Amino acid sequence: MNSIIREDFPILQRTVYGHPLVYLDNAATTQKPRCVVEKITEEYLNVNANIHRGVHFLSRQATEAHEEARRTAQKFINAAKPEEIIFTRGTTESINLIASSFAYECMAPGDEVIISVMEHHSNIVPWQIQAARNNISIQVIPVTEAGELDMETFKKLFSKKTKLVSLTHISNVLGTINPVKEIIRISHEHQVPVFIDGAQAVAHVEVDVQALDVDFYTFSGHKIYGPAGIGVLYGKEKWLDKLPPYQGGGEMIASVSFEKTTFNDLPFKFEAGTPDYIGSTALATALDYVRKIGLPEIARYEHELLCYATGKLNNIEGLRIFGHATEKSGVLSFLVGNIHPFDMGMLLDRLGIAVRTGHHCAEPLIRRFDITGTVRASIAFYNTKEEIDALISGIEKVKNMF
Ligand code: PMP
Repeated sequence: MNSIIREDFPILQRTVYGHPLVYLDNAATTQKPRCVVEKITEEYLNVNANIHRGVHFLSRQATEAHEEARRTAQKFINAAKPEEIIFTRGTTESINLIASSFAYECMAPGDEVIISVMEHHSNIVPWQIQAARNNISIQVIPVTEAGELDMETFKKLFSKKTKLVSLTHISNVLGTINPVKEIIRISHEHQVPVFIDGAQAVAHVEVDVQALDVDFYTFSGHKIYGPAGIGVLYGKEKWLDKLPPYQGGGEMIASVSFEKTTFNDLPFKFEAGTPDYIGSTALATALDYVRKIGLPEIARYEHELLCYATGKLNNIEGLRIFGHATEKSGVLSFLVGNIHPFDMGMLLDRLGIAVRTGHHCAEPLIRRFDITGTVRASIAFYNTKEEIDALISGIEKVKNMF
């Protein structure tokens, strides 16, 4: 499928140090198709005006584009209502919002939130900040040697004090696709709501928030071929109604006086200040683009590439892959002999191959495997088998230098 698709991504045609670019850092951020970049230009050149507050034509047109983008995001994850879609700066801001508002409203000192060893720092540190402020505690699900959540221990972590389960859908280091549907079912049996960090998921697997029955779900625009600085927080209406605002300012209020300020309805209660109304429309363009290709087809193709790459990597002597989950997306973390991941990354870069090295903002997980970091190659639907071959021959070259 991807020879036509690659033409939509001009950056993939460029060279790096005289080599064709092989971009395998998609878990960090994805490249943008031309239609997304053109949408940003078109909106700034033709429709730019601050939204929601204007009576004039341009403001109304920009407002309509922003609200249409909300409906596109709603449909993309099958939320019941557009009011359940909050635009944020991205996954990190969404988690901070929920951690702050949920801990304030729904947690008392001594209450517990369950997370896991495989969380990105953005689903650890906001809870630690709340733990320090409100004296709540954090329970952590261990990860097995294969890189899966230890579900038996998870079931035992629930107590009367458990108020929320907050987990990643897909690990950005191991590629593990967590059994979120089962996690949500188990949590709901304990009357505990669930927050899912979908940063690594929405671009790779179909997400239906109603079928999952998830209480909160979030993702970032830049990891799904959209712009950086815009993301989506989904919350069930009953929860969003209950939670207090995260930030105060314009747009999130119904009326303001020094005696009493009242807050706006959903979703605006959580959208203080001028939002990235160009980013939202460009994100909608990206979501439409992905929808047209189709997530089942994307998942099928990326799985084929994952299997191809895994087979080839396993043939390299001294190479260890981290993450052998039965359900796995296109993320390959590995080490070769004693070669430091940073050296491997630097030398692959000289061959035009972009991979990520280090702890991938998941230090507890890296420590769990008794290592200091990995090399991570992460796949998108525009990657090819030839690019995997280039990675493999690059690794062999680097290996021979040591
Ligand atoms: N969670 C996961 C699983 C991630 O991979 C990332 C980004 N690497 C984040 C959260 C944070 O996303 P952002 O930086 O877009 O807020």
